[in-house]
Amino acid sequence: MTEQERMRDYLLSLEPDVDPLCGEIAEDAITREIPIIRRETAAFLAVLTAMKRPGAILELGTAVGYSAIWMAGAAPDGCGITTIEKDARRAAEARENIRRAGLADRITVICADAQEVLPTLEEGSYGMIFLDAAKGQYGRWLPMLLRLLAPGGLLAADNVLQDGTVLESRFAVKRRDRTIHARMRDFLWEIKHCEQLQAAVVPVGDGVAVAVKKR
Ligand code: SAM
Repeated sequence: MTEQERMRDYLLSLEPDVDPLCGEIAEDAITREIPIIRRETAAFLAVLTAMKRPGAILELGTAVGYSAIWMAGAAPDGCGITTIEKDARRAAEARENIRRAGLADRITVICADAQEVLPTLEEGSYGMIFLDAAKGQYGRWLPMLLRLLAPGGLLAADNVLQDGTVLESRFAVKRRDRTIHARMRDFLWEIKHCEQLQAAVVPVGDGVAVAVKKR
């Protein structure tokens, strides 16, 4: 076991039990190989949400609603969450999980391609955006996300370290992964050098990029 794995195991051992419904949703998603945020990422996302106290949250990539339910648990009363999922079966499951969690009045699932939905949303209307859909599209969506974020708004993007492969040279990456590898590196460079953003890359879970839109 590497030092990094030991550290992860130790940190995970500190995590309290999640509520039973969240635990059930996560276990079922993992069994069916539906990708969801890792346990430590969920804890980090909840802290970000509690610190930011957004009036409205936008999520890209709902899957079965797990991360949206986590954010709702940490968000202030009255904060609505809009979450976009292009897979109709997953969107339907997410709606059912959200209903079971008693959050149907706070979380709205839009079943569509985020690329088509983003231009239709209102400028500056989100205090927080969680980006967790097609990893190769992060850079392409960034200008639209900047338009949607309120001044002082927080952007968090998951899986930016790509299981560690992001630090490898393109020649060390399998040919089929080279496009996403290059795009993720471009995205990280972009957010770190964007004049509108204050950004940091945090090596929690599979890596979360966090950026605040300057006022
Ligand atoms: N955030 C979820 C969670 O942690 O519970 C996991 C999301 S999963 C990593 C990514 C999801 O994004 C998949 O369910 C996939 O179908 C969806 N997706 C991929 N590309 C998309 C797009 N262009 N528009 C909307 N959803 C997309």
